[in-house]
Amino acid sequence: MIVVLIETGAEGVTDTSLETLRFARDLAAEGGGVPVHALVVGARPDLDELGKHGISTLYTAGGEGFASYAAAAWAAALIEARDRAGAVVVTAAGTPRGNEVLAHVAARLDVPMAANAVAFDGLSPLVVTRQVAGGLALEEMQLTQRPAVFSVAGHAVEATPADSATEPTVEELAPTLTEADLVARVVSTEPGAPDESGDLKSARVVVGAGRGAGGPEGFGAVSELAELLGGQLGVSRVVTSLGWRPHHEQVGQTGSRIAPDLYVPCGISGAIQHWAGCASSKTILAINTDAEAPMMTKATYAVVGDMHEVVPAIVEEIRRRA
Ligand SMILES: Cc1cc2nc3c(=O)[nH]c(=O)nc-3n(C[C@H](O)[C@H](O)[C@H](O)COP(=O)(O)OP(=O)(O)OC[C@H]3O[C@@H](n4cnc5c(N)ncnc54)[C@H](O)[C@@H]3O)c2cc1C
Repeated sequence: MIVVLIETGAEGVTDTSLETLRFARDLAAEGGGVPVHALVVGARPDLDELGKHGISTLYTAGGEGFASYAAAAWAAALIEARDRAGAVVVTAAGTPRGNEVLAHVAARLDVPMAANAVAFDGLSPLVVTRQVAGGLALEEMQLTQRPAVFSVAGHAVEATPADSATEPTVEELAPTLTEADLVARVVSTEPGAPDESGDLKSARVVVGAGRGAGGPEGFGAVSELAELLGGQLGVSRVVTSLGWRPHHEQVGQTGSRIAPDLYVPCGISGAIQHWAGCASSKTILAINTDAEAPMMTKATYAVVGDMHEVVPAIVEEIRRRA
């Protein structure tokens, strides 16, 4: 049995949670088709939708103690779901909330936790491959204790529906919460500046630009290319530090972590702090005047040339073929 903590947003179950359900189903298949259960705290998502993703049982937790987010309270609910299901695996998306709740679960059950898994091997023993050092390296971790507790990194798998839909049953949980479970909780929320990096983090195509852009006026062609490819513009820290572009466009250790299908870094050297934010890109097409720049040697494809010539030429060719 596997229990997945699912998160919801304005549009229902989040994409990262649907990816986690897919990861859990693949793992369940490895175990001969063991059931996948889910826990949701607060508003119940559309059951038909969850059925399409192969859920057997949806556990729900609501009421006063769950009126606002409290990691320890969510962990108590997840542990109760795990007990009811007799689950040997407890997982969630590798989001700040998913990782925080799982860390509480692991601490309470005195088992290790692996954050940001991208793949697995076997179920017994279970070995997960996970991103470490901000995605710079992969580590294999054998989870021998039960339950195995791990989160799933964003974009590790596609959020595809199950081969055959299920009709999930619903079970309400009423975990006993202590005062300590609610000490650290959200007491009020203030509308803040919108997280403008959201589109960049989830973009399937990112066109990047670094110091090679030459100045604030040097982003016209890269922005155009990003738009033509239905993607987003991402930049290096030099660019944001010099005030050429806003910080929410920055990719890297101190910017956004991206995992697009295609990343096109132009005039970006590929310093380790930048690489930390783009290493999960599936395909990298680098454009740089220096063939020896780290980004060029790591890229899937490398074009040696001036971005102010190469990028407009690509744009022109795409427009010609459109
Ligand atoms: C604690 C810390 C955190 C950091 N966090 C981040 C982060 O989150 N993100 C980040 O990006 N950096 C980060 N950095 C900075 C990082 O170390 C690099 O300084 C930065 O990534 C370099 O940016 P760049 O590649 O644009 O510039 P450079 O390193 O100067 O490289 C410019 C590149 O452009 C090429 N070039 C020049 N002209 C052209 C042209 N006309 N056409 C094509 N190519 C051209 C050059 O050959 C060169 O490879 C961090 C640093 C520290 C210390």
